Amino acid sequence: ADQTYISFSDGNRIPQVGLGVWQTPNNEAAPAVRAALSAGYRHIDTAAVYENEEGVGEGIRSSGVDRGDIFLTTKLWNNDQGFDSALKAFDASLKRLGTDYVDLYLIHWPSPHRGLFVETWKAFIRLKEEGRIRSIGVSNFYPEHLQKIIDETGVVPVINQIELHPDFQQKDARAFHLTHSIATQSWSPLGQGKLLNHPVIGKIAEKHGRSAAQVIIRWHIESGLVVIPKSVTPSRIEENFKVFDFSLDPEDMAEISTLDSNSTRIGPDPLTASF
Ligand code: NAD
Repeated sequence: ADQTYISFSDGNRIPQVGLGVWQTPNNEAAPAVRAALSAGYRHIDTAAVYENEEGVGEGIRSSGVDRGDIFLTTKLWNNDQGFDSALKAFDASLKRLGTDYVDLYLIHWPSPHRGLFVETWKAFIRLKEEGRIRSIGVSNFYPEHLQKIIDETGVVPVINQIELHPDFQQKDARAFHLTHSIATQSWSPLGQGKLLNHPVIGKIAEKHGRSAAQVIIRWHIESGLVVIPKSVTPSRIEENFKVFDFSLDPEDMAEISTLDSNSTRIGPDPLTASF
């Protein structure tokens, strides 16, 4: 079965499952990207701070898949926030990636203590107007940060990439996104692996003859989320993409819904993060 997409408010669309490459050095990123593209992925998620944009670019170029068929995301690191510095950081990312546009550029964190995310957003709007970014979005933004950039620029991000997994389901953020036609993208969708041994997930996986990872990825898909599981192991990369030929039952979705504790972040709280 074919992969699925989520439509953006700007008319573009994003493949619902992508490969995450956090904590993957250049020499591992290139083969991981090639493995993903050969398994059928057409969406790669990197960031300047991952220090692997060169490896990602090399993986894309050596894959044999046309750049135009690939949805490539990168992110602006916090210390490059500000209008001029964002423009400069974007040029540097493109150069490292070895491409002349990205499909999606994200402000990595609101970093509210810097007070620069509105200026940064204005630079993103400029870059989109210039055609060097197809779509612009944010990451780790709370509704109050989203509201601020919307109020000050009138331009709504197409997506917000936030920590989201079955025991941290972000229902309030998702409700806000829905009212503003902002897509939600799940980072650490597998809870960095900690949810793979959960008994409820295991029971559902056994029922469908699937792996725990596939069940969790399917939960994100059927919840209307964009999901970017990370692996550098080719067999797992393949497994994580073989999720378009089965579906969860309504009672499975309901049961996973009850796993939400709404308190167990793995990563930092974007409101108080000091970086
Ligand atoms: P994840 O939830 O994707 O878990 C990844 C880990 O799960 C892997 O290291 C591996 O150990 C395990 N795993 C993956 N597939 C498996 C399988 N099929 N079977 C068994 N184990 C498996 O965690 P993540 O890497 O933190 O998040 C995914 C991506 O999200 C990142 O690579 C990055 O692209 C993005 N991310 C973004 C932010 C942000 O601030 N925007 C923060 C963290 C991560």
